[in-house]
Amino acid sequence: MPLLTLTQLLLGVIMPPGPPPCSSEDPCLSSRPCPKRGFETGTPLSWDCPIGCLAKLQSLDLSDNALQVVCPEIGRLSCLRHLRLANNQLKFLPAEIGDLKHLETLDISTNRLSTLPERLHQCLSLQCLTLDRNHLRCFPRQLCQLPSLTELSMAGNSLAFLPLDLGRSRELQYVFVDNNIHLKGLPSYLYNKVIGCSGCGLSSHTSDLKLLSIASEELSIPLPAEVKAVSSETERVEPLEELTMRILHNMYSDLAKFPDLKYLPPISLPKSLLELLQCPLGHCHRCSQPMFTIVYPKLFPLRETPLVGVHRRTTVSFVAYCCSSKCVRKFNLQS
Ligand SMILES: [Zn+2]
Repeated sequence: MPLLTLTQLLLGVIMPPGPPPCSSEDPCLSSRPCPKRGFETGTPLSWDCPIGCLAKLQSLDLSDNALQVVCPEIGRLSCLRHLRLANNQLKFLPAEIGDLKHLETLDISTNRLSTLPERLHQCLSLQCLTLDRNHLRCFPRQLCQLPSLTELSMAGNSLAFLPLDLGRSRELQYVFVDNNIHLKGLPSYLYNKVIGCSGCGLSSHTSDLKLLSIASEELSIPLPAEVKAVSSETERVEPLEELTMRILHNMYSDLAKFPDLKYLPPISLPKSLLELLQCPLGHCHRCSQPMFTIVYPKLFPLRETPLVGVHRRTTVSFVAYCCSSKCVRKFNLQS
């Protein structure tokens, strides 16, 4: 079965068409009615969803229903390439979405999501990700590593900042973040991409975010919480923690390249630091050096760039995040 479309049926949970095949022994094969099953709109149900049996399904469209729950068995649709869940009532998605290794299109626009599935970055075939009109406050930096992502749309959310590396991938060419009123900074990697940022930067109220800010003249731009310090062109010495992380990262990336190297001692670090070693905070926008705790930012208000004619309804700035005072001094937006 290559295609299944179940739109505008007011479904409350995902389920296959036809009689309810659910039993405690094998929910996918039995034809006995499942007592937990229901079609009532708005009823949050939890059951062994037999949709996972449709192993050859390539395209699943459940848009325009009343879904509140998507069961973890969705991860068993190993051939799925296109998944559309737009215009439902989803507040979260199962981590098993990350098991969909062939997924190319994911549309979860117009839902109630405040977070994304924690393993979404494992969907390495993902090309088009549509997250418009949810309640997202941040976009995980791990998703910047998706190698095939060409189009990302996050309009109409509550984003106040973007990951430092967003747009670093050459594949990612289309980024739409319109109508995120708290969003004031775009990573400079996006300068030469197709972007939509109308209606951004309109809110002056960011005090509840409790984030580090880049303050320059009248501009104040929130940063991701993982950024521990902001430095400037005149600071010439990197903090010890940053230097240590850079050295560890270099040592262990060499180890990954040369698995025969076994002489390095095992390191014992908190989980958060290990995750940071595997996925740095960002990479210097000038020299690509990984960064872990500190950034040297430089602001380029969009209204002062040649793009001002295209983006009239925005007050955002491009931000170059650099690794050192030397790089931030030499950074040029148009080079
Ligand atoms: Zn640098």
